[in-house]
Amino acid sequence: MNERAYNFSAGPAAIPLEVLQQAAAEMTNWQGSGMGVMEMSHRGKEFTAIHTQAQADARALLGVPENFHILFMQGGGIGENAIVPMNLSRGESADFVVTGAWSEKSVKEAAKYCSPNTAASSENSGFTTLPEPSSWRLSAGARYVHVCTNETIHGVEFHSLPDLKALGCDTPLVIDFSSHVFSRSVDWHKVGLAFGGAQKNIGPAGLTLVVVRDDLLGHALKICPSAFDYTVVAKHGSMYNTPPTYGIYMAGLTFQWLKRQGGVAALEQRNIAKAQLLYSFLDSSALYTNPVAHDCRSRMNVPFFLRGDDGQALIDAEQPRNAAFLAGAKAAGLLQLKGHKSVGGMRASIYNAMPIEGVQALIDYMRDFEKTKA
Ligand SMILES: *Cc1c(COP(=O)(O)O)cnc(C)c1O
Repeated sequence: MNERAYNFSAGPAAIPLEVLQQAAAEMTNWQGSGMGVMEMSHRGKEFTAIHTQAQADARALLGVPENFHILFMQGGGIGENAIVPMNLSRGESADFVVTGAWSEKSVKEAAKYCSPNTAASSENSGFTTLPEPSSWRLSAGARYVHVCTNETIHGVEFHSLPDLKALGCDTPLVIDFSSHVFSRSVDWHKVGLAFGGAQKNIGPAGLTLVVVRDDLLGHALKICPSAFDYTVVAKHGSMYNTPPTYGIYMAGLTFQWLKRQGGVAALEQRNIAKAQLLYSFLDSSALYTNPVAHDCRSRMNVPFFLRGDDGQALIDAEQPRNAAFLAGAKAAGLLQLKGHKSVGGMRASIYNAMPIEGVQALIDYMRDFEKTKA
């Protein structure tokens, strides 16, 4: 393949070409410093400038209020499943809303550090719906309420954040926004803490973004490693230990790219248009189907199935029609469309770096495949 393909990977995912090209141009000599970013001291003036700018750009792009800290950590979303309860639970209880594979993992991990309570679950619908916040069984003593606001595997997204205060609940809301961060605006007045791995919509894997409200610091369990204690990390400006310097640099390039695109509001409009295009094609087709309820379909991760001749969704990726679809897609320059193994079928992840032309190319391919299908 001589040209870059359209890459629908759920993560690690496509990075804007301009970002990769700038990183390539600066790989061996960053802005006349005589060294590459990977080779710099994290405390030197060059990297300090990169770090400070990236943090300021993240704050401006996401509209993060001054009473929140922005932390650049390591450990990913799965690491945060332990780090959050170690910092916020005080070994007591926390509420979880289970809406798919990721929140399921979060509640299991939290049980090592606190007493998790499942306040609501959409498991009965096969994680194709979201439970109404008014039906959540929130508990009085919970130290936080955990919600995964975009379930990357099941393709379900909260299109507005739950307003716990309006439900008469003062508990801080923790959101896992790994797979839709920077794709839409965030109502910070509803949030206590947000975390996300970088590899979906920010840059390479290895960096974790944490945004935490000031008043939630200071309660880490004794067993919490210092490098994962938000209070320690915040006090040291994310420099308590060596941060993932290259990941922060790449995130910073993505933030500059986002600003050139018109910021998160402009990207949100594009993401709405991309998702509408793809879902309306799926809904109008006899061959393809998406199982998620219309009001909570993810703008970022679009799982879909091909049907067999009997009309049933084809789950197994090795099934001949699925295998032919994937092979043809690859030949057409449409990569990594295979669904997650736990759900099967296909999944198109259409993060910020996916242009609408890529979505259109996928639809054109899918329409052709439907005409000539094996
Ligand atoms: C990818 C993902 C994670 C896990 O991230 P790791 O970097 O593998 O730890 C957690 N939550 C969500 C919603 C994700 O999409």
